[in-house]
Amino acid sequence: MSKYVQYGIPSSWTKEFEIKGISTTTFKNTSNKNLIERYNISEDKVKFVKSRLKRKPIDGDTLQSLLERNRFVCCLCKGQKSDAYIIHHIEAYSISQDNNYYNLAVLCPNDHDLVHREGENLTNKIPKEQVEKAKINWEKEVEALNVAVASQSLEIGEVDFLNFNRILELYHQLYSNPPHTKYKDQLEELKALDNLGGISIDFLKNNNYNENSPFVFWGPAGSWALSLHYTDLFKQILSTLQFTDLDHLLSVKKIKNILSEEKFCFYAGGLYGKNPGKPGTNSEITHLYFHRRKFYVEWTFDTKYMISTSSYIRLSHRTEYLIYGKIRTIENRMINGKEYIYINIRPYLFGLALRTKTRRPSIHYRDKFTDEEN
Ligand SMILES: [Zn+2]
Repeated sequence: MSKYVQYGIPSSWTKEFEIKGISTTTFKNTSNKNLIERYNISEDKVKFVKSRLKRKPIDGDTLQSLLERNRFVCCLCKGQKSDAYIIHHIEAYSISQDNNYYNLAVLCPNDHDLVHREGENLTNKIPKEQVEKAKINWEKEVEALNVAVASQSLEIGEVDFLNFNRILELYHQLYSNPPHTKYKDQLEELKALDNLGGISIDFLKNNNYNENSPFVFWGPAGSWALSLHYTDLFKQILSTLQFTDLDHLLSVKKIKNILSEEKFCFYAGGLYGKNPGKPGTNSEITHLYFHRRKFYVEWTFDTKYMISTSSYIRLSHRTEYLIYGKIRTIENRMINGKEYIYINIRPYLFGLALRTKTRRPSIHYRDKFTDEEN
């Protein structure tokens, strides 16, 4: 990212300066005459850049985060008028000298002109409040887009849960060819798979491990390859099957539309959970959940499909998950004396979310090791 942008200079100009090999320091220390004659830069541009370079530059991290959260395009036209951008101060720099995140907005040169329109022709002037609002809304939209992209490509930090039986079932519904991944040969050599593509019970027994935790055993003995194999199969499923962002479904109107059918959805964000105890001792049903407004959403699952000891621990910690599942039931239900629209989902896979949304109200957690919120 060019240093010029930190001074509020349009991104479209920086390329010219880079090609001509003029750094911001050179620009500052070169006379206007030389810049115009030797470097062949227009006089208006020279004057504008010179005045901007007298400012305090915007902090690089702040700028990077602003640009990323705005997808590097104007928050007013979302890049429709131009790919170029300029960092705008919502409260004018001349008055505020405020380079903080909240005072900055990404605008295209065109909309930037409209915001700064002065004098007689104020008809199309864009008011400050409109910029502020546009920035907030666009950043929200970008967040949702990023999460949708991340979910489609299974951007997961670490997978915690893999219901391989349900993944296989779904795979067979979608494809006629037998499941294949780059781990398959290795797993067949270990005799880790049964005829149907599931995990062989004999294999688990021979390795002195337990059916109640088919993924929790020494990695090099095959557990890593098994979890990567099923994760990869699920990735293949995601390339065919659309999982809807649960946030889109959480309105009464939309929920009613999907009442009759089964629906695939994902959710990325903080969830409450319950850690039922040590892996391998027994297979137990537990849950992750949250409630928001009228809705109470619960994912119920068998702990036998947790894939590591740390994944057990995370169930009762401050964890932000990316979780894929299928809606099983939607009904009115009294929970803790309050009536909710209760949605039950059975997960296929979940793990650590790399991208989440800032939700209001955000989910608050209680201290570590307390597993229930009232
Ligand atoms: Zn624009």
